[in-house]
Amino acid sequence: MIAQKKDISEPQAIESKPGTPPPVPHVVIIGGGFGGLTAAKKLAGRPVKVTLIDRMNHHLFQPMLYQVATTALAPGDIATPLRDALHHQRNTTVLMGEVTGVDTQRQLVLLEKYIAIHYDYLILATGASNNYFGHPEWANLAPGMKTLEDAIAIKNGLRF
Ligand SMILES: Cc1cc2nc3c(=O)[nH]c(=O)nc-3n(C[C@H](O)[C@H](O)[C@H](O)COP(=O)(O)OP(=O)(O)OC[C@H]3O[C@@H](n4cnc5c(N)ncnc54)[C@H](O)[C@@H]3O)c2cc1C
Repeated sequence: MIAQKKDISEPQAIESKPGTPPPVPHVVIIGGGFGGLTAAKKLAGRPVKVTLIDRMNHHLFQPMLYQVATTALAPGDIATPLRDALHHQRNTTVLMGEVTGVDTQRQLVLLEKYIAIHYDYLILATGASNNYFGHPEWANLAPGMKTLEDAIAIKNGLRF
């Protein structure tokens, strides 16, 4: 159950009551890309409870972003709903949300709207960002392509 909290400075665990150990360890995975999705699949059927959190509702096959940017594929062809990908795993829950921080002292993953999720083990698989080697102004000349939105923006700027 997810609880909402009023005071952001005092996030509360929502997966287990304080002092009450969960029956199995709770593994929280942040990110449903290659890393996070592979980790979740490896934990199928294991004696753990898994929660995978991503800001998107889909796993994106980034290597085929080029095909979307050049109209060879539609966005939906390279995006798989995370819940579909993991629906057969009875020990796994998928949450859509923006992770805003991690409280390692209290073992809490912090999300928007003052939601906090307690973890026993945490897997951070949030990917990487573009690097312009200290020249952010280069981004206008060489826009990055890591998301569907990036690919669609490039496609919309192309003239065939
Ligand atoms: C255009 C392109 C082509 C590529 N081609 C190849 C190739 O041919 N071969 C190859 O091996 N590799 C290729 N790669 C690299 C490969 O796609 C990446 O190495 C791989 O996707 C990284 O996986 P990841 O799980 O670390 O991160 P990602 O796949 O980026 O996944 C990170 C996930 O974390 C989520 N996330 C991030 N921050 C938050 C947050 N705060 N809250 C909630 N969710 C969050 C994101 O939404 C995302 O779903 C390519 C990459 C690109 C961009």
